[in-house]
Amino acid sequence: MTRAKLAEQLRQRLQEGGEIPSEALAGFDDDFIVSSYLDTACEDCGKKLAEGVDVDQVLAESRDLDDFFNLCVNTKDHVHAFAHVRWPTEL
Ligand SMILES: [Zn+2]
Repeated sequence: MTRAKLAEQLRQRLQEGGEIPSEALAGFDDDFIVSSYLDTACEDCGKKLAEGVDVDQVLAESRDLDDFFNLCVNTKDHVHAFAHVRWPTEL
């Protein structure tokens, strides 16, 4: 995948989730979406999803969003709890 593809899939998932008003979502640019996702911290240890991860390398190996997430998590030393990305509902 590329970063653009990652952003596209995240955007799609957020739209489907319906947690974020679509007008707020429309205001998120790709970089913002990707960096918010990568900055998601584990609820247990506080480590970020992308911490210690070569993001571009992992992206290149990923087929889709879930694949990317799993590859990131697999580089960590325990099972992290990354369930809640705290997206802003407005900018
Ligand atoms: Zn953790």
